[in-house]
Amino acid sequence: MNLFELGKNVILVLEEHGHQAYFVGGFVRDVLLDRPIQDIDICTSALPDEVITLFEHVIPTGIQHGTVTVMIEGAPIEVTTFRTEEGYLDHRRPSSVSFVTSLKEDLLRRDFSMNAMAMDKDRNIYDYFQGSEALENKVITTVGQAFERFSEDALRIMRAIRFSAQLGFTISEDVIHSMIHFRESLELVAIERTAAEWMKIMDSPYPNQAIHYLIQTKIHQEVYPFRCIARQLELVQKFSLSGLEPIERWGLLLTAEEQDMDGAYSFLASLTLTKKMKNQVLLLVENLLRYPTITLLQDLSAFELYHLGVENTFHLIRINHLKTNGTLPNLSKQVVQEGIMKLPLKKETGLALKGHEMALYLQKEPGKWIGETIESLIRAVLEGKVSNNQEELLQYLTNLVKLEDENE
Ligand code: ATP
Ligand code: MG
Repeated sequence: MNLFELGKNVILVLEEHGHQAYFVGGFVRDVLLDRPIQDIDICTSALPDEVITLFEHVIPTGIQHGTVTVMIEGAPIEVTTFRTEEGYLDHRRPSSVSFVTSLKEDLLRRDFSMNAMAMDKDRNIYDYFQGSEALENKVITTVGQAFERFSEDALRIMRAIRFSAQLGFTISEDVIHSMIHFRESLELVAIERTAAEWMKIMDSPYPNQAIHYLIQTKIHQEVYPFRCIARQLELVQKFSLSGLEPIERWGLLLTAEEQDMDGAYSFLASLTLTKKMKNQVLLLVENLLRYPTITLLQDLSAFELYHLGVENTFHLIRINHLKTNGTLPNLSKQVVQEGIMKLPLKKETGLALKGHEMALYLQKEPGKWIGETIESLIRAVLEGKVSNNQEELLQYLTNLVKLEDENE
């Protein structure tokens, strides 16, 4: 069953028990835009306790805010009781919520017109705040006065910027003015939440759009953690980031101003990236700083290509080429792969002479020298000085040791 049908079943059950229930928020927006659906949000007049009794498998995910998650065929469906929000403290989330009985009142608390529409099970749209018009004009406008909405919750500033990057929408003038007015309040929002929006921007189809708004609102200079990379954000604007993989966007951004790696590293440290992603970014940054002039596959020595491998080589060349020429090179991962396949030594098979064999042959205690010797032999094989077979490697090793002894 598709997600719509699953949600519809939840709505049917709620209605059968005398409650109102609608699809709402991002789900309705994405259906109208024909975008892939990530998650289903349903709003209802039923109280959380009532929802819990109506379905077999319910998780009380945010019950104090009226939200429970109904699991249907393994899919999580968020069901939230119609509510309003009060007592926004320090421009952050509300301190209390009250349940209400009307759909319109629930929609009124939502951030943007495009996010404040509801849809019933027969796909009729309930649009009290010009949401369809906003979608048609590809513009981000608030429900009610922008000034008030950003005063309540400064995270909405980041959400506006993130949606502009995901949808390619512009942000309306009055919204931008209010974003500028409340930009400092963004620092009161938990850093993880700001970071989560930034991560979505980095994965979005139009990251330049977001950077444009960060600069226009001067968030990039005034607000932590963006101010760590203010100059970098300005510098990357001359490149189109859309054609880059997310990891490449990170590499380009963080090395845009090589004089300011401290700022780049602080920015990276302030975010909640997975360890894997962080290591990937750091490795790419390291490669970019080490090989800033490599813009073609032929620029790399066999030894460098061997150590970098397909992915790192591909990203390194693309970013350097973009920085130097303003365009992406005509290079595919397959071409890099073929270049690596042609090397006289493959990472998978490795050297035909193993460390313990060297120790035995030279009658030397194993130690740090083994790693160093392996590197020398790898280099020699890749430079064509010796073939990768055991006999020749042993011969080469003997000469190497002799030379070292002579030099001592
Ligand atoms: P996506 O799921 O793609 O991130 P979304 O619009 O569905 O986008 P959610 O965070 O899932 O965003 O929130 C669901 C709905 O809740 C939104 O569409 C909006 O109506 C409302 N909402 C979420 N966060 C806020 C907020 N900070 N202020 C006001 N309304 C909000
Ligand atoms: Mg959502």
